[in-house]
Amino acid sequence: MEKIFNNTEVAFILKNNKELKRAHFLFKMISNRALVKIGSSLANFAIKTHLPVQGLIRATVFDHFCGGISENDCLKVVDRMYSKGVSSVLDYSVEGKETEEQFDAALNMTLKTIAFAKDRHQAIPFAVFKPTGFGRFFLFEKKGEKLPFTKSEQQEWDRILERFEIACKDAFDKDVYLLIDAEHSWMQDAADEVVLEMMRKYNKEKAIIFNTVQMYRWDRLEFLKKLHETAKNEGFHVGLKVVRGAYMEIERSRALEGSYTSPICVDKAATDINFDAAVTYMLENLDTMALFAGTHNESSSYMLMELMTKHNIRHNDTRMWFGQLYGMSDNISYNLADHDYNVAKYLPFGPVNEVMPYLIRRAEENTSVAGQTNRELSLIETEIKRRKNA
Ligand SMILES: Cc1cc2nc3c(=O)[nH]c(=O)nc-3n(C[C@H](O)[C@H](O)[C@H](O)COP(=O)(O)OP(=O)(O)OC[C@H]3O[C@@H](n4cnc5c(N)ncnc54)[C@H](O)[C@@H]3O)c2cc1C
Repeated sequence: MEKIFNNTEVAFILKNNKELKRAHFLFKMISNRALVKIGSSLANFAIKTHLPVQGLIRATVFDHFCGGISENDCLKVVDRMYSKGVSSVLDYSVEGKETEEQFDAALNMTLKTIAFAKDRHQAIPFAVFKPTGFGRFFLFEKKGEKLPFTKSEQQEWDRILERFEIACKDAFDKDVYLLIDAEHSWMQDAADEVVLEMMRKYNKEKAIIFNTVQMYRWDRLEFLKKLHETAKNEGFHVGLKVVRGAYMEIERSRALEGSYTSPICVDKAATDINFDAAVTYMLENLDTMALFAGTHNESSSYMLMELMTKHNIRHNDTRMWFGQLYGMSDNISYNLADHDYNVAKYLPFGPVNEVMPYLIRRAEENTSVAGQTNRELSLIETEIKRRKNA
């Protein structure tokens, strides 16, 4: 297969020289583990004590990884990306909320992004939300462990179910695909059950509701196949975002502390095998499944492209999407779009101080996946050189 991801001219077509240099500076900083640690603590401290650092954060990490502070802000970026065939998923990245008002606000934001998606169908084909955006983490955990709720907890849980129902019905009515993110394993069982109910209800004709499976979990391939069996028996379509998983360290340390078997694959190679097996299975069953492959991994992406050719699946078949995060792996996103594949990038937005946990996770992820940061740096350097010589 032709190595299309090395084409840096296509990868950075939307970045002017100044933006390219900023990206280089940013990834250089992120590649320094100590700097990321100090920077994260300083940013948290400055925000908590209301020091005027928002301008600095916006000009550096925020604008690189986020579309803006509001959904309206993002539209400029959405249109710009879509001019090169790359779609967006507007991702309200405010996390860790605990009150009913905040959960209602998250639902309203999800409904707003579904409406945006309806208006700009191809440019914003998906909406997304996190289960714990709609209700307390603790309740998902308790439900998953089958522990009895108190009366008021039951009422709270009913409101969570109602929020799921309102969002999913709205996506169905407006014909907008809806992704539901996956989180920590000890709250995920309850979320999976609710999403299964939503798929049963709204995926009868095609996949509209997409759950997420994290393939760093060794039990997810079996989970996926079982879900597919259920869907075939009952007559609905399975929509799944397949990712490797973002919470590995905390999953491992919690398992160690609680003396239970870690849900995470033994090593990276095992996760890679698991991920590739899941996306292969889904691609081979597209008559009843739809796949959103959320990954920055080049070899998994090449493998999927090869499989699509092998099975005669059109590049822009609506049941097969590639996804990356805004500010990362543009070489994959823009080169895929340049070859007519369906690609959507998560475009996070929200007030600067509220998005900080998301930004810190991105910085830490790029630090811990050293190979990924080095790849970003070397691609940017290649493009800077290419422009100089052009
Ligand atoms: C569009 C999109 C949506 C996403 N949505 C979610 C979501 O809903 N929930 C979520 O949890 N994450 C989500 N992620 C993040 C994702 O799970 C990964 O953390 C991230 O994409 C890195 O994995 P990769 O496949 O891109 O790249 P790679 O660099 O190939 O893989 C890195 C990943 O491999 C796994 N890994 C690394 N080392 C080991 C090891 N020693 N043993 C076992 N496994 C290891 C980890 O999962 C790590 O994140 C999303 C990512 C994208 C692009």
